[in-house]
Amino acid sequence: MTVLYRGRFAPSPTGPLHAGSLVAALASWLDARAHGGIWIVRIEDVDTPRCVPGVDRLILQQLATCGLVSDEPEVWQSERGALYLQALNQLVAKDRAYPCGCSRKDIEAALQAAGLNRERHHAAVYPGTCRPENGGLQGKPARAWRFAVPHEPAVMTWTDRRLGPQAQNVVHEVGDFILRRADGPWAYQLAVVVDDAAQGITHVVRGEDLADNTPRQIALQRSLGLPLPAYLHTPLVLGANGEKLSKQNGAQALDLGEPVLALQRAAATLGLHTVAGSVPEALQAWISQWKDGFSLCARP
Ligand code: GLU
Repeated sequence: MTVLYRGRFAPSPTGPLHAGSLVAALASWLDARAHGGIWIVRIEDVDTPRCVPGVDRLILQQLATCGLVSDEPEVWQSERGALYLQALNQLVAKDRAYPCGCSRKDIEAALQAAGLNRERHHAAVYPGTCRPENGGLQGKPARAWRFAVPHEPAVMTWTDRRLGPQAQNVVHEVGDFILRRADGPWAYQLAVVVDDAAQGITHVVRGEDLADNTPRQIALQRSLGLPLPAYLHTPLVLGANGEKLSKQNGAQALDLGEPVLALQRAAATLGLHTVAGSVPEALQAWISQWKDGFSLCARP
């Protein structure tokens, strides 16, 4: 029988799992199990300077302690550069990728000169200076490859399984984003899209903090002629200050002395009821709850 559901959990090894990442791991695992599907762990170690040596193994151990084990051998993005290169070449051949020689300063100067001050997550929206139709590199050395975001349609729409209908004008809100830096590293957006397709991922379940990457990923999937997975973005765990808990704001590594307690907390964030018992018993009970119609209580 063909498995119609393939899901994944894709941690970046920049730090051990924390309470927030466990929510995404548990949700993606439960959703796969509830659909009788396959769940795969993919280590997203393309952003090498931020990856901490050994943390990949630590994350796999933490997951295993929580009863979450990849159904297929785990993959490491750092070993998959050939696939990303193939995709970049395809985009170049379709005039959807171009080399860019702009520094951050160049971009700010161009935005100011044009009277624009569009900022997104503190990153300037690239004004398209090196787009081929604007003259290309003009002798500057290439610093990065950028995706030529299609202007038609500029607005990407999709329906998130939890958040409902979503829309983003990628041209105005994001602009031509980076696919690869000239010094080598692949960007998350390209790697994730290539891997989701190469691994036959049908359902993406991940934290809500990643939801606004989805339109960029859909734009790339369309340009590369790849199938679109279904998306479900899970509630975030908030820190004491009300901000999302993340590795960046110093989230504590999980205390897995009693893994079932950490799982109970993650399950509660997903709107699942507390269940008594061991890790396997609790997981089994949550699969049933998820099948019965999970609530993902903390809707925004
Ligand atoms: N590697 C990303 C992260 O840890 C998750 C990517 C994804 O699930 O699409 O934030």
